[in-house]
Amino acid sequence: MVSLSFVSRWLWSATRPRATKWQSECDITTKGARTKTFFPKITDRLKLKINVTPNFTMTVTGHGNIKSYLLKYKIKDSPICCCKRGEQTLDHIIFDCELVEKERDRLKAAVLRSENWPVSNDTLINKYSKEFKKFTDSLSFDKL
Ligand SMILES: [Zn+2]
Repeated sequence: MVSLSFVSRWLWSATRPRATKWQSECDITTKGARTKTFFPKITDRLKLKINVTPNFTMTVTGHGNIKSYLLKYKIKDSPICCCKRGEQTLDHIIFDCELVEKERDRLKAAVLRSENWPVSNDTLINKYSKEFKKFTDSLSFDKL
């Protein structure tokens, strides 16, 4: 299990010397692998001015009320999403789940103005952070 404090420190690191230290620690560990798909470099996180919310943190860490995550800890019996179209992972929710199609439309429309959908996680966060944040905040994880 990836330590939440590790991921939190990764997300919240605020000073450059510290960031450099964290970057080198992150380069040699597999912890926070999902978070690194959004922030390959800690300096990218530092540049991003964003008011982090619980939904946003859950989406970029993959830790929380997601069936594939809860299955690992035997809290759920199945990883299958309520839409029945696959495992309920964060990538499924961001890119595929029809239950959040309406919430995804604005994010998708913003991306489609300049490139094809889907884009990588780091593109979502670095080029479309406002729309991505709105998308994550609009999700009702307890209803999925
Ligand atoms: Zn689904």
